[in-house]
Parts: sequence; C-alpha cells; structure tokens
Amino acid sequence: MSLPPRIGFIGLGIMGRAMAMSLAKAGFRVSVYNRTRQRTIEFADIGCEVAATPRALTKMSDTVITMVSDPAAMEAVMEGPEGVISAFSGGSALINMSTLSPDYTSSLAKKCYSAGVIFLDCPVSGSKSAAESGQLVILAGGERNTVEKFSPILKAMGKAVVYAGPAPAGTALKLCVNRIVAQLTTALAESAALARAQGLGPELIFETLALSPVLNCGYFELKKDNILKNDFQPAFPLKHMLKDARFMLAEAAKKKLSLPVTAAVEKLMEKSYNSGYGEKDLSVVLRNLAEPLG
Ligand code: NAP
Repeated sequence: MSLPPRIGFIGLGIMGRAMAMSLAKAGFRVSVYNRTRQRTIEFADIGCEVAATPRALTKMSDTVITMVSDPAAMEAVMEGPEGVISAFSGGSALINMSTLSPDYTSSLAKKCYSAGVIFLDCPVSGSKSAAESGQLVILAGGERNTVEKFSPILKAMGKAVVYAGPAPAGTALKLCVNRIVAQLTTALAESAALARAQGLGPELIFETLALSPVLNCGYFELKKDNILKNDFQPAFPLKHMLKDARFMLAEAAKKKLSLPVTAAVEKLMEKSYNSGYGEKDLSVVLRNLAEPLG
C-alpha cells in the first residue's frame, strides 16, 4: 500500500483550522504553518509537524494547501526567500482554497506551471459549521483529471466537488455563489430592521420562511441567531465578503456588466467595515441600517 501524501497546510483561521483537522482525522500526514504560531499548538498536540516558515513546510510536503485571507496574505506566504515558491519542486502540488481574485488565481496558475508544479484552484462554499462537519462544497478549477486525482484529499474536507473548468473557473464560480450569500445576508438584515421599524418581532420572518416549502433555506437558520440576538461572532468575517464583493464588481466591470444590487451591498458592507466591524460576522450590516448610507 502506498504512503498517504504529505500535506502541508497554510492558514489555520476559522476555515483552515477545521479543514486541516478534517485532513488529519482522515489519516493524511498533515504538517502546518500559520503566521500566528499559537494557532498551531493544537495541531502539534495531535502529532502534526509545525513548520517555522512556508518554505520549510513546502520542503516537507508533496501537496501544499493554502487557506488564507486574501491576495496580500497569499503573497506573504508564497513569495520571498521563506515563501512556498522558493521551495517549489517539480511534481509537487499547490491547492489554493482561499477566495482570491480570478486575476491573482491565473497568475498563480502560471507561476506553478513554469515551476512544474500542479495547481488546483479550489475555493469552498460553506462556512465555519460546514468546515467543521466536513460538509463544504469544493469548487474546483484545473485539469479535470487532476481534480479527480486529488479528490480523496478534497473529499476529506468536503462532501462534494463541483468541477468548474480550467483555473480560474473555481474562483469565478465561487464569486457567483458568494454574490447570493452576500445578498441573502443583507436581505435578512434589512427585513429584520423593517420588521422592528413596523413594531413586528423579526422572529416572525424566520418562522414564516421556515414554514414555506420554497423559502425554507438552511442559510436563514444559520444566520437566525446573529440577527435575532444581535450576536455577530464571526463565522464569515465581514472583511472577507467585502473583498469578494469587490472582486465581483471588478470582474463585472471588465466584462461591461452592471451588478447594481451587488454594488449597493458592497456600499453597505463598506460602511460596516468603516464602523470597525470588519472582523465580525457579515450579518453585522444590521447595525448600520439605522443610519443613512451617506
Ligand atoms: P480567517 O479566520 O480570517 O483566517 C485567515 C488566515 O489567513 C489566518 O490563518 C491568518 O493568519 C492568515 N493570514 C492573514 N494575513 C496573513 C499574512 N499577511 N501572512 C500570513 N498569513 C496571513 O479567514 P477564514 O474565515 O478562515 O477565511 C479564509 C479564506 O476562505 C478567505 O479567503 C475567505 O474569504 C474564504 N472563505 C471563508 C468562509 C467563512 O465562512 N469564513 C467561507 C468560504 C470561504 P493569522 O492566524 O496569523 O492571522
């Protein structure tokens, strides 16, 4: 029997922590790197090797998985003398699961190709709870047979893999899906604010949605406590959805497409971000509805 691949996981935030744990529990040999070392302690405790730099992690891995915030974070772990690229060797693989821009993803694919490294563009649909329960849906870009070859790794973190096409198709699909998540969230917040303004309890909205055979959506249940209890502990930090909305608008502008509702949602999230709510769950936009957008 062949040895399981050595996986190096970079980025142990809300999502990456749960995804790396799923891989370790599935029996893969997982090593980890995280900028803030403290987040690696629980991995060391279960026997995972902890690397001091992305370069050291890459050297001890066949496949590197990245799950970091944004293109700036990706630059920080990929580039420079201690970055992943400095230790690339032909035949190894990079799977990016962070949500980046399509342009950044294309440039990453090219860098990997030049270095003889396999690249998969695999952002995820699903938030903290789906990552913890292995229920993520993985949106895969790359060569179809490469995606199939790596599906045991991908399926250890999620329940399904949707093949989108060559990179950056995984990222392109992710932006289309996240548009809906952003708008569902702002729709819930606006409905709750309007209900309160009319003297109604917003729980009636959730009750009505749950009873409807067509509007009964798991995402509404997921955000119910945030909205009803004004509790904005982050599952999906606002700053990440703001980043994604900007990627969506940039893609639309390139293609001369107008996304007016996405533009309005981006403005609302920007206001929330400027109010100091970037680290809170994106449902925190509810707090900004009492004031004019300006
Ligand atoms: P998070 O909790 O904010 O974690 C971000 C990770 O990136 C942390 O490990 C952080 O390291 C690392 N990082 C940030 N800046 C860095 C830098 N300059 N250098 C090195 N490492 C850096 O984010 P998350 O919620 O897990 O999301 C990760 C990605 O998945 C994002 O692209 C997000 O859009 C996407 N996503 C999130 C969700 C969700 O519901 N949360 C769902 C789907 C997709 P430190 O620990 O040192 O800060």
